[in-house]
Amino acid sequence: MKKNIKNFDLDDLKEELKLLGEKPFRAEQIFKWIYQDKVKSFDEMTNLSLDLRKKLDENYSLGLFKIVRKLESVDGTKKYLFDVQDGEGNLIESVLMQYHHGYTICVSCQIGCKMGCKFCASTGIPFSRNLEAGEIVEQLLAIERDVGIKISNIVFMGIGEPLDNYDNVMNSIKILNNQKGLNIGARHISISTSGVVPKIYELADKQMQCTLSVSLHSSNNKTRSEMMPINNAYPIEELIKACKYYIQKTNKRISFEYALAKDNNDNLDDARELVKLLKGMLAHVNLIPINKIEDGKYTKSTNENIIKFRDYLNDHGIVATIRRELGSDISAACGQLRKQNLNKE
Ligand code: SF4
Repeated sequence: MKKNIKNFDLDDLKEELKLLGEKPFRAEQIFKWIYQDKVKSFDEMTNLSLDLRKKLDENYSLGLFKIVRKLESVDGTKKYLFDVQDGEGNLIESVLMQYHHGYTICVSCQIGCKMGCKFCASTGIPFSRNLEAGEIVEQLLAIERDVGIKISNIVFMGIGEPLDNYDNVMNSIKILNNQKGLNIGARHISISTSGVVPKIYELADKQMQCTLSVSLHSSNNKTRSEMMPINNAYPIEELIKACKYYIQKTNKRISFEYALAKDNNDNLDDARELVKLLKGMLAHVNLIPINKIEDGKYTKSTNENIIKFRDYLNDHGIVATIRRELGSDISAACGQLRKQNLNKE
């Protein structure tokens, strides 16, 4: 089987070219063709010799995806279902969102997810494998090719738990980050985790400049364990301890995600408990009006409750904002499109 050339960061690609008997500077040319010119074949790399193009074609693939479905929201959000072309028929989702500061892509990092969060549409889609670095990067390239735009921000908030696919995610960031490639600054990359505590420590020690988002969703273990089984392995006390270590090591603010579900975690007692938990931490709370999921147990809080919750946090020294709902008319919660496609089969 051919190797996906997008799995290699620039240094590794230089090594690959040495193995082919080529000069390392060729790697920079190839990087430019792939990530800046976004070519779809080795044949288009016209400053390489015909012999090298042939060698590349024999040994590597460009790992191109095929668009299976594409939905467009009235607010401009575009949701893609891709066939990753691995011969297994595996499908993944990515979402393109437009903000005033530019385009943001929400990428998936696994096929399925092991975490089983109860409010997530990916729950029930069995985990089949991790995505490789090249498959993470290709989500961005496939959308840039399709729409003809430059994406400036990436959030790892699609299907999968990024810290459960740590090495491939870190490798993809190296590629996304490279100035000779996509040149997306680490500050424009955000990693979201359901709370894989040991990997938060690892990330802290790496001192990367990426933003870390932690899905908290409740400030007590009972409700959080009901919503997120990972809380049984890493309860809130351990998670907050790891987050404090991360802040101390990186001096970076953590964004805590809190999906408000009606009569579940959205009353003022919950807000009070949350203030106690996060007091004094370099933190921001991102309140998310939960997306209603087919068969899901949770429903969206009332607007009145969401605003009261936010105001309580802000009045008590915790910076909180309500996330703008994008793409709610096209099932933008992660996993929904793929689930609908599986149900159709
Ligand atoms: S919310 Fe994220 S971590 Fe939880 S099940 Fe869904 S994809 Fe997995």
